[in-house]
Amino acid sequence: SLEVTGIELAFGTNKVLRGVDLAVPAGRTACVIGPSGSGKSTLLRAVNRLIEPDAGDVKLGGESVLKGNPDELRRRIGMVFQHFNLFPHKTVLENITLPLRKIKKLGPEEARTAALEQLELVGLSNKAPARPGNLSGGQQQRVAIARALAMKPEVMLFDEATSALDPELVKGVLGLMADLAQAGMTMVVVTHEMGFAREVADQVAFMDHGVVVESGVPEQIFTAAESPRLRQFLSQVL
Ligand code: ATP
Ligand code: MG
Repeated sequence: SLEVTGIELAFGTNKVLRGVDLAVPAGRTACVIGPSGSGKSTLLRAVNRLIEPDAGDVKLGGESVLKGNPDELRRRIGMVFQHFNLFPHKTVLENITLPLRKIKKLGPEEARTAALEQLELVGLSNKAPARPGNLSGGQQQRVAIARALAMKPEVMLFDEATSALDPELVKGVLGLMADLAQAGMTMVVVTHEMGFAREVADQVAFMDHGVVVESGVPEQIFTAAESPRLRQFLSQVL
């Protein structure tokens, strides 16, 4: 399970997160929706300690992870970004083995085996020797997902994983994410794909101005929203 409580974070005087609460039980998927600038990416970055929050707590399986080693935390929480963030000069296989070697301290053979297993899972075994630049955006994103999964994380965070993809490639990546959710991964998915949120999420959280304004099951959020801000947001995106 992932429990985020009272997360606050400011960039200078700009208070971007103003007390965010989000609880995702083990095996469940939470989608985070909300307008541009509401703090969604910053929230995921704070959870993964890419930026240290000013206040609040993050618990994994009931245990606080904000005080310990950030590398230890990143072993346990995988993150997938909008722009893939693959190393362009390394092969697909090396992109996946690198964090396994560096962060998980696996030996070369173990890392290779684990990486190939994940590549197979995302349907890209044949791309192991290729450079990321020679793959389609959808394939690059599947490599990024495989790289995160290879670490065997307890939780996966996705930040608009399909926003940079050509429309015809979006479906494949969303399908892979839906399969992961189905397989019981605990996930937080920041997305503009309302169809995905509706069909795959167990819960949807609507963020605005650095707080979760309303959260609930998709049915509640999409057909019976209480907050006027959420209703206005939905009227613009649906
Ligand atoms: P979008 O839907 O456009 O991705 P978002 O909800 O992910 O938006 P964030 O990227 O979290 O929004 O940004 C929230 C606020 O924090 C914005 O006002 C942004 O300008 C500010 N911000 C984000 N990152 C930084 C940073 N590294 N330094 C300073 N300000 C930042
Ligand atoms: Mg963002």
